[in-house]
Amino acid sequence: GLESMITRNLFLFLSQNKFVKGKARKWGPKLGANNLIAGETIDDAMETVRELNAQGLSGTVDHLGEFVYTKEEAEESANYCIRTLDAIAESGVDCNLSLKLTSLGLDVDRNLCRDNMLAILERADQLGGIFVRIDMEDYSHLDATLELLHELRQSYTAVGTAVQSYLYRAEKDVERLKGTNIRLIKGAYKESPEVAYQKQEDVDANYIKIIKRHMENGSYAAVATHDHNVIAEIKKFAEENNIPRDQFEFQMLYGFRTDMQKEIVEEGYKMRIYIPFGEDWYGYYMRRMAERPQNIVFGVRGLLSK
Ligand code: FAD
Repeated sequence: GLESMITRNLFLFLSQNKFVKGKARKWGPKLGANNLIAGETIDDAMETVRELNAQGLSGTVDHLGEFVYTKEEAEESANYCIRTLDAIAESGVDCNLSLKLTSLGLDVDRNLCRDNMLAILERADQLGGIFVRIDMEDYSHLDATLELLHELRQSYTAVGTAVQSYLYRAEKDVERLKGTNIRLIKGAYKESPEVAYQKQEDVDANYIKIIKRHMENGSYAAVATHDHNVIAEIKKFAEENNIPRDQFEFQMLYGFRTDMQKEIVEEGYKMRIYIPFGEDWYGYYMRRMAERPQNIVFGVRGLLSK
């Protein structure tokens, strides 16, 4: 409705507002950001993963970064990924790495981005095959992402990406990615009707369809959603079709539906939590708020408890 549209636009505005952003570092804890972000350092992230692991939850950490414009920034970001991999191995946690190709220089120079990815995957491989997930970004980066993934998979197998069900072409991409560990999602960006379903019911129907397709293909599926209807349907589908429980996992964002996260683990399914961390948490936090203003309750709770 109108109210939620206003709230959404307010948070989208805030996500880009430089003045508020400048103040945000100080306000963060009061805004409740620490309920959705694991902290600012690699140590903070590892501490959070350890706590989640203790509850039977697996992790995937994502170092939040703002836009990368130069070769130096892209390399710095790749080095940070490598240091994060080292920390994962050192602390012995059950954890993957998630990253974005634009932060490794996809828009600066594709060869630079490929070299950065190769360095990251080489280290992940040396450390025993830590899985690296390439988050899917907006449509303008889709082809470049799939091409690069294809190239990387000639040398490394512990790497995958994500497919967004709001795209008309999602089913074709899933078919093409048969045999790859894929995260299946509805999609988080605003895309045009030229390429993407606009109605929620169409996105949802296609979502169920591509998840089932990937599972039927015998491929590993990471079902990343907070949607209880989808989760219930996929559990039933796996049961009825004898899809082994080590051929799929559920994923949710850190701090979202924590009761359900626990429930899913207790039922004996694999559940992985996506854990964002880093100094640049502000944009991520405001975008999550824009998507789901109900999360403001976290903020209110944060204010009351601190
Ligand atoms: P929605 O359509 O948002 O929700 C469906 C229903 O579930 C709601 O109507 C409500 O009834 C219930 N619900 C949802 N959230 C809550 C809540 N917090 N509390 C109570 N009920 C709730 N997007 C990308 O584009 N690229 C990526 O690489 C990417 N990676 C992701 C990784 C993970 C682990 C997750 C969880 C999401 C990722 N996304 C990514 C975002 C994704 O595409 C969706 O935008 C986002 O997850 C919202 O859709 P949903 O499937 O959770 O369900």
